[in-house]
Amino acid sequence: MTDFTIQKDAEGIATITWDCPGKSMNVMSGEALEELNACIDDALADEAVKGVVITSAKADFAGGMDLNVLAEMKAQAGDNPAKGLFDGIMQMHGLLRKIELAGMDPKTKKGGKPIAAALPGTAVGIGLELPLATHRIFAADNPKAKIGLPEIMVGIFPGAGGTTRLARKLGAMAASPFLLEGKLLDPKKAKGAGLIDEVVDDPVAAARDWVLNATDADLVKPWDAKGYKMPGGAPYNPAGFPTFVGASAMVNGKTKGAFPAAKALLSAVYEGALVPFDTALKIEARWFTNVLMNPSSSAMIRSLFLNKEALEKGANRPEAPDQRVKKLGVLGAGMMGAGIALVSAQAGIEVVLIDAKQDAADKGKAYTEAYLDKGMKRGKVTEEKKQQMLSLITPTTDYAMLDGCDLIIEAVFEDMGVKAEVTKKALAAVGPDCIYASNTSTLPITELAKASDNPEQFIGIHFFSPVEKMLLVEIIKGEKTGDRATAKALDYVRQIRKTPIVVNDARFFYCNRCIIPYINEGMRMVKEGVAPALIDNAARMLGFPVGPLQLVDETSIDLGAKIARATKAAMGNAYPDDEVDEIIFFMEGEGRLGRKSKGGFFDYDESGKRQGYWAGLEDKYPRLETQPDLIEVQHRLMFAQVLEAVRALEENVLMDIREGDVGAILAWGFAPWSGGPFSWLDILGAEYAAERCDQLQAAYGDRFACPDLLRDMADKGQSFYGRFGSEAKAA
Ligand code: NAD
Repeated sequence: MTDFTIQKDAEGIATITWDCPGKSMNVMSGEALEELNACIDDALADEAVKGVVITSAKADFAGGMDLNVLAEMKAQAGDNPAKGLFDGIMQMHGLLRKIELAGMDPKTKKGGKPIAAALPGTAVGIGLELPLATHRIFAADNPKAKIGLPEIMVGIFPGAGGTTRLARKLGAMAASPFLLEGKLLDPKKAKGAGLIDEVVDDPVAAARDWVLNATDADLVKPWDAKGYKMPGGAPYNPAGFPTFVGASAMVNGKTKGAFPAAKALLSAVYEGALVPFDTALKIEARWFTNVLMNPSSSAMIRSLFLNKEALEKGANRPEAPDQRVKKLGVLGAGMMGAGIALVSAQAGIEVVLIDAKQDAADKGKAYTEAYLDKGMKRGKVTEEKKQQMLSLITPTTDYAMLDGCDLIIEAVFEDMGVKAEVTKKALAAVGPDCIYASNTSTLPITELAKASDNPEQFIGIHFFSPVEKMLLVEIIKGEKTGDRATAKALDYVRQIRKTPIVVNDARFFYCNRCIIPYINEGMRMVKEGVAPALIDNAARMLGFPVGPLQLVDETSIDLGAKIARATKAAMGNAYPDDEVDEIIFFMEGEGRLGRKSKGGFFDYDESGKRQGYWAGLEDKYPRLETQPDLIEVQHRLMFAQVLEAVRALEENVLMDIREGDVGAILAWGFAPWSGGPFSWLDILGAEYAAERCDQLQAAYGDRFACPDLLRDMADKGQSFYGRFGSEAKAA
């Protein structure tokens, strides 16, 4: 035994302890399940054992299922993977049901052995599904602990009975934030919500006490007792009916049908509610199998869990000593600089926030204060925490205050000259080892680095707006950027708990390079007479948070026009987007600059709320009488982005397809169910993707020409993740 061990004492209590060797957090594997099964069999068979406490030797109970195992389960399931998966899941249900029934007489429900769970800390995923199968759950009073079922976040749903048990325990309505949104709570709130039973100082002692005093009746779950009724009502019940109808509408409204796991989860809850408990578990297992068989789930697990975590842990960090930042200089206290100061102070980093005028610098710091005030109103921030964070930020115009900074991030106006000037001033004020980063979104890092005598210490750290909300940071290596600078940027991003990708320097780096064609394709379609609502909704039905026209309104038309002019000036005759510019310049000329001017592709009311598409668009660009097929619109929007991602890979701007996939989902919400651009192409298959490129190219132009790499993969029958191996490196 390595993961689970059993110890029996003189009072007849068997303590089953979970302690994954070599890991800081327990995660469930196939072998661990077998060990737990053996421990339970032993405890139930041994007459000297009166009851069982299941606990953990670590600070937390468990972080869930080892998703690597889930990802591999399908491959290991043989010729009939669906059956293999279903059988495996049913075996897991068998074990948890054995715990729940605890050897009691099936008719009288008497004679079972009480089994309690004692959770020292976090218990998520199967780390909560296992306790839910016991008879009572005790958690330590540990406000840092998280309790819940986050599976939906990575494209699956709780498939070890958590769905069926929680829906029956709380009712479909009360269970929905936990099942459908993966909401996690601290132990006290989890008790309030009914996820667990008790919060105590010493959960093992309390669980032992309870086990010693439990009666037969204490062991019978409500759904195993006579006359059980689902809280809030089952589907064909006047009280329950609206919940189920409403849930379906709500889920489809939120997901636009793009996430298979949410639909499957709803089906499991609804169908399960109509039948006895054991049949409901079987239904849950069938839907869980269905989700695991869908390529979306393995792609989401791979990108949003495995690879995201690998990147956060420094998968692409060069060898260099610890580069964690102690004192940060931020140049420019505007929208981005203020956000960078906020997230850095949150990570406990001392920040010197510089602007040209003192009141601008103060305004930048006030952003953090306003953010903390909001947190205080919601009871999330204490006065002490607020003062402590504010004390870390020094707003000033004095560059001498930068003395001692080990990292500078520049976020002044997007202008080569202004940036060069502040770079020189800042570098004169710091020591020779300080790493210097620019948050530019469009200017080449290699060019900007010329303002420094040490271009190997110069790098791009590209944040997305709003800084405190966006999870991704794009790190850009200039031609001369050295390993220590890259390590510094990565260590900093880890400190502020965001996810990094590292790319090489080229126009628009990686993310904006892919986002711009997405927006442009949307605008091209408007020009062709495609209904704007069809364009934006086609994107939303693919799982994008906002359609391309809404996105351009949010980021502003004049920014688009500015980028278009600068790009054309730089590219000359090779510039491909004149057609798109016509519509941008038209909107700009009409003063419809987007949400900020209360008019863009949408009309807005005074408070900035969207009021529908602007009617003037149709006057200028008459609608096609026959609108295109939804899939055609979706493919244009998708291919515009993913082909750019493939080209970025071909050109070595992107060095690792994992970064391309994770970055796309986190930076601009690229169809998360697909796992990202490369995963999407793998789902389509290179051969079909290449064929679609040819069709789209013939219909709409050379921007859809199949990249050589994709053509080669189509010829060889390869996939991206197959070709670039388990490490997923393109190099
Ligand atoms: P902003 O206009 O809100 O802020 C720029 C700040 O820099 C202003 O407070 C200004 O007073 C200050 N500044 C200008 N010249 C200065 C000087 N010589 N010395 C000191 N301070 C000076 O702009 P922003 O949106 O925060 O953008 C800043 C940078 O971040 C730009 O390079 C931009 O391309 C980049 N960026 C912006 C976004 C975005 O969504 N806004 C996203 C990613 C990157």
